[in-house]
Amino acid sequence: MNSGLKTNKILSRPMKVITKSLGKNRYYNQFKDDRFYNDSWIRAQKLPTKLLGPRYRRSRSSIELDITYRCNLKCFNCNRSCRQAPSTEQMNVEQIQMFIKESKEKNVNWETIRILGGEPTLHPDLLEILSLLIEYKKHSSAGVRIVLCTNGHGSKVANVLSKIPTDIVIENSMKTSDENGFSQFNKAPRDSILYKNADFSNGCFIIVGCGPGLTPYGYYCCAVAGSIDRVFGFDIGRKELPSADDDMVDQLRVFCELCGHYRRRSWTTRTTSEVMSPTWKEAYIKYKRVRPSLSLYSSK
Ligand code: SF4
Ligand code: SF4
Repeated sequence: MNSGLKTNKILSRPMKVITKSLGKNRYYNQFKDDRFYNDSWIRAQKLPTKLLGPRYRRSRSSIELDITYRCNLKCFNCNRSCRQAPSTEQMNVEQIQMFIKESKEKNVNWETIRILGGEPTLHPDLLEILSLLIEYKKHSSAGVRIVLCTNGHGSKVANVLSKIPTDIVIENSMKTSDENGFSQFNKAPRDSILYKNADFSNGCFIIVGCGPGLTPYGYYCCAVAGSIDRVFGFDIGRKELPSADDDMVDQLRVFCELCGHYRRRSWTTRTTSEVMSPTWKEAYIKYKRVRPSLSLYSSK
């Protein structure tokens, strides 16, 4: 148990005693695990983090593969920047083979592998990628759920979806236009005085629900971070599958201060129009001038 968790336990004891004495212990437990509490501004600051430990830790059983950044929609506030910084970057078949090889060698028990992007049905090798993952499931990881996330928009996408093997679960968000209610991804916390004392190693709920991400440039604390890297060009994607004891805190510190999800309260911040803070405006201008060149996730 790390010191933060110990402190959390110690500090929560008096609170438990108080609430128990009021006969409200179950409310305390709901509160403790509630995103209302974990996503709160105060929980994201340095002192509470020092005392209580990180508010979120990444999943070890789920992963997202961003196989392409192509998309046939241009949604406002796309958290892969498909509208703001359109690109045809994509993972190749060899990179998927390497991911499978590493997963087997490291005995990772994936519960969920989600394939997305961009719009993954626009990847020219999608069916080959899926057949590799299905083979992996059959021979090495019977329990894994392989999920294809699509926007379901247009006849080209529908045509590919009609060919997807039944072993694959399809999550179809059925988008019809660019105006979807998304969180304000391009509102960098570091542009707000309110987050000057935040501890960005906290991450956000996405690292729990979705797990780390794999992009053409390696593994990231979340797939969103991978897409931030392709715009900013830090080039810090891990080139090996992170081990179970790796919380990827170094990456959280770099990416979360740029990511609007850090201040996420989706029910109050979702919007259908573009919102962008100065750091992002500047980053997209630079990206349009010169695209960063990142090193690839590849076999040595
Ligand atoms: S469909 Fe998804 S990936 Fe494509 S632009 Fe919209 S949010 Fe981004
Ligand atoms: S980069 Fe964004 S999505 Fe990823 S953990 Fe940080 S705040 Fe969450």
